[in-house]
Amino acid sequence: MEKIKIGIIGYGNLGKGAEKAVKLSKDMELVGIFTRRNKSEIDSDSNIYNISELEEFKGDIDVCILCGGSATDLWKQGPEIAKNFNTVDSFDTHAKIPEYFSQIDGSAKSGNNLSLISTGWDPGLFSIHRLFSQSIMPVGETYTFWGKGVSQGHGDAIRQIEGVKDAVQYTIPVEKVISEIQSGNILDLTTRDKHIRECYVVVEEEADKNKIENEIKSMPNYFSDYDTYVNFVSEDELKLNHSGMPHGGRVLRIGKTSENIKQIYEFKLDLGSNPEFTSAINVAYARAVYRLNKEGTKGAISVFDVPVSYLSIISPEEQRRLLL
Ligand code: NAP
Repeated sequence: MEKIKIGIIGYGNLGKGAEKAVKLSKDMELVGIFTRRNKSEIDSDSNIYNISELEEFKGDIDVCILCGGSATDLWKQGPEIAKNFNTVDSFDTHAKIPEYFSQIDGSAKSGNNLSLISTGWDPGLFSIHRLFSQSIMPVGETYTFWGKGVSQGHGDAIRQIEGVKDAVQYTIPVEKVISEIQSGNILDLTTRDKHIRECYVVVEEEADKNKIENEIKSMPNYFSDYDTYVNFVSEDELKLNHSGMPHGGRVLRIGKTSENIKQIYEFKLDLGSNPEFTSAINVAYARAVYRLNKEGTKGAISVFDVPVSYLSIISPEEQRRLLL
């Protein structure tokens, strides 16, 4: 079997996850990992290159999996790389997806390449379930809950406060509200009703804990709209009990298909490692991108545009026999 040749761009959490997921995919081979850092900083058995060498691999890589951050990396790397390669990325700033899509679309079309943007679990699998459930039940209400899981953005925000040495933040859904929805009640919910935020914070010896706690709880955009709980812990405890990257969540839609018939649609994820799962999704979509581009599809697409059978390593005949 001719293997799909993969390049991984960026070696952070997602890059490491993508390396593992490619190794588990029998129809793929990893050409290399491309980093902006000095190659010697990358601890991996795979081929490591500097990102400046990527263009030399034009024609030798079928799909690049872009593992940079959504805030700045992907805005630069996405349009540049899409000119020369098919790409898959996990851009997750929901409000900016239309703008990002149009930038990538122009670049990908200019090079006759295909770029799948914003895959992963949210955006990604959750988006598909929001679309499925809404299409099947046009009358109803959809809710998305996240967690319990680590939000790196919120941990970063706490680390910016003076006197804070380190921090981990968990987003936790309010189970009572979920139970009410699961029993079929349509609720009008505020941000505060749906999730709480729990913080584990390591501070400098002389730091004023009350001041830090108040600063966290009143931080706009991150904490002020939530019930936030702050726990001060030692460095050792943070390392021992809070160094994993679990996450998950659910999409719930309560629909009505006739006057007295309520239907409940639920999709739930409980993830031991957010980045490893996200990367596993990206790798399955890289297979689909390879196949769609071979058929002539170009430009930017999202998970909504990919036939699910293209994700699978098994043939359509086998899919129909075993899974339909
Ligand atoms: P990350 O670990 O911060 O990595 C981002 C980039 O930072 C890497 O590609 C890497 O590029 C660089 N980097 C990593 N470690 C470094 C270090 N020690 N020193 C210097 N640079 C380093 O971010 P991530 O957790 O992989 O997440 C990437 C993005 O995925 C996030 O921004 C998020 O938006 C998105 N995401 C989406 C979903 C979804 O469901 N759609 C889920 C999870 C995450 P170089 O190798 O080039 O330096």
